[in-house]
Amino acid sequence: MRREVTIVVYHHIADQEDPLTSKLGVVTRPDVFEKHIRYFARHFDMVSGSDLVRGSLPRKPLLITFDDAYRSVLDTASTVLKAANAPSLFFVNPATLLGSSLPVDNILSLAAEVLGKQQVIALLNINETGLTSVPGLIANVISKWTQAQIADAKRRLCVAMGTSELELRRTSKLFLGATDIKTFASLDIEVGNHSMSHTFFRSLSSTELETEIVQSRELLEKLSGQTVQCLSIPYGNALDATEGALRAARRSHKAIFLVHAKSNRFTPAADIFYRISLGNAAPEEIPFKLRIMPVVRCVRDWLW
Ligand SMILES: [Zn+2]
Repeated sequence: MRREVTIVVYHHIADQEDPLTSKLGVVTRPDVFEKHIRYFARHFDMVSGSDLVRGSLPRKPLLITFDDAYRSVLDTASTVLKAANAPSLFFVNPATLLGSSLPVDNILSLAAEVLGKQQVIALLNINETGLTSVPGLIANVISKWTQAQIADAKRRLCVAMGTSELELRRTSKLFLGATDIKTFASLDIEVGNHSMSHTFFRSLSSTELETEIVQSRELLEKLSGQTVQCLSIPYGNALDATEGALRAARRSHKAIFLVHAKSNRFTPAADIFYRISLGNAAPEEIPFKLRIMPVVRCVRDWLW
């Protein structure tokens, strides 16, 4: 058993849904986010990614993280964090920053809004029954596809919507640009690696892992001027923490982050950390979600 550290993960902080995110369940309302930060300030000692890597942790450490490259973290969340003197760790994808591509989940969300779920399933030649949501489609089907299959799916969906991935990225105001991450350091936001193109690691070749993990980190260091030592595995699933992915990651990262909402007292390795997504949880639900459920999930794993 090792030290307890609580790590939370957020994505997009906004009052209104955007079609690129509306089917993904990644939005936290700003008023809720503010309540969460106030709760953390009262009940925890907020730490940075570097504190975690160094192992210099106070009695009740909590680390705030963000995944993906949503502009709202800079525009909305950073003001709340600054007021609370809270450091954070923001995992971003350079391909999204550079304006060259969009994660498949954003395109699926938009396609489900524009074309409808049935047409999306037909366009992608998916035969599985019982798929009721975009996250279900991503976790159960897309997660097993190669990068070429995913690129082809994105192309087909965009053509059916009369657009292109590049055009969607160019016209959307949801995401940060390459120069934005230069400002992170002044806001006490540490840059983390979230892979080059927000892809599943489990079916990648060693060359693709090199691009997604190693080159992505190098590019983020160049763009941000920060040292990047943490990697968050896209979609947060331990199935993507493959031997090859961990080998590539450990050459240049000191900590690797999943989601799974389990207790960090019981992780598979000292450099792997679980995180908890609070979404729009009310403050009174937070102790249950942060303290009780993570331990329950670990106990459940042992029993099974
Ligand atoms: Zn992500």
